[in-house]
Amino acid sequence: MKNPENFYQLTVNLLNERGVKLSDIEELVYGLQKAYIHPLTHEAMQESIHKILQKREVQNAVITGVELDKLAEQHKLSEPLQSIMEKDEPLYGCDEVLTFSITNLYGSIGFTNYGYIDKVKPGILKWLNDKSTGRVNVFLDDLVGAIAAAAASRLAHTNPDLEDDSIYSSPKNED
Ligand code: MG
Repeated sequence: MKNPENFYQLTVNLLNERGVKLSDIEELVYGLQKAYIHPLTHEAMQESIHKILQKREVQNAVITGVELDKLAEQHKLSEPLQSIMEKDEPLYGCDEVLTFSITNLYGSIGFTNYGYIDKVKPGILKWLNDKSTGRVNVFLDDLVGAIAAAAASRLAHTNPDLEDDSIYSSPKNED
């Protein structure tokens, strides 16, 4: 598979197959940027998500992480990884590390955005973290959070009216 558009489509298909729609990611982007960009249009958010998903390092991270989630769900991994994945052990950490290539795309804002939604777990992230579904989403929750964080950071960097300080302040503390 050498056509870049095929990798993009494969990535979108994998996310859909695992229950994540691009509109779910857009909702996360909106939550991250609504206080800073006016107006924040669907088109701008969709374009930003599209640009992030076109990057090979993002596609590679999604392909790798989702594959491990699926293998764990099918009980096909060797021990101790199978048990670690089933328990979603908090100290495993490789799921967060895999997302660095995504959160790194648009500078340090990507890290702060990712850290914020990883902690709060809004929208689709709450569902992905629901262990009662019997599904294994050890990597997917971090990948989705990182894609949204990077898309939001890209919007911040491409908005000429945005002042740097406002990126780091909480929406609640805005005057
Ligand atoms: Mg995780």
